[in-house]
Amino acid sequence: MAKRVTGPEIEKLIQLLAKVPGLGPRSARRAALHLIKKKDQLLGPLSHAMGEAYDKVKVCSRCGNVDTVDPCTVCTDDRRDQGVIIVVEDVADLWALERAGAMNAAYHVLGGVLSPLDGVGPDDLNIRGLIERVGEGGIREIIIAVNATVEGQTTAHYITDQLAGLEVKITRLAHGVPVGGELDYLDEGTLTAALRARTAI
Ligand SMILES: [Zn+2]
Repeated sequence: MAKRVTGPEIEKLIQLLAKVPGLGPRSARRAALHLIKKKDQLLGPLSHAMGEAYDKVKVCSRCGNVDTVDPCTVCTDDRRDQGVIIVVEDVADLWALERAGAMNAAYHVLGGVLSPLDGVGPDDLNIRGLIERVGEGGIREIIIAVNATVEGQTTAHYITDQLAGLEVKITRLAHGVPVGGELDYLDEGTLTAALRARTAI
């Protein structure tokens, strides 16, 4: 058995950090050591920020976004076009689309995609909430922005079926060649989708 080099408190910090995506045990040890060395500049403010986030974080009951208020900042922003809802799998996708700044719309976070193999059915996702939002009226367009995976596409079809009969336009992301992307590096699925979604020049 390896000899202990630190007390259990620091060991615990390392073990928890190692569970953060992108950090393994090795990076977690480096991060922990860095935090300890920067006790006042980093460890203190970080533990305070984490405590505050823990106390205040909420999931928006309307769209599924995370925020410290419910309904969230996006749902109550009247400078956004609240008549257009972009449907995403995860909050990370919402953040990515906002960083891209392409749309000024509302969102709906599903919390995953349908995956019968993993036992994820419609009731495990925030789909009913979306149907209810559309049913309340005032929504002109639903943009389904799920990943171009088999599960993502199955989910898109399911949502489209569920929205049938409601007065709303349903669109989805074009699956195309990424800006700056070289055809060589694209997988066949992307290339095929790009060809099928071709537009006139
Ligand atoms: Zn919201």
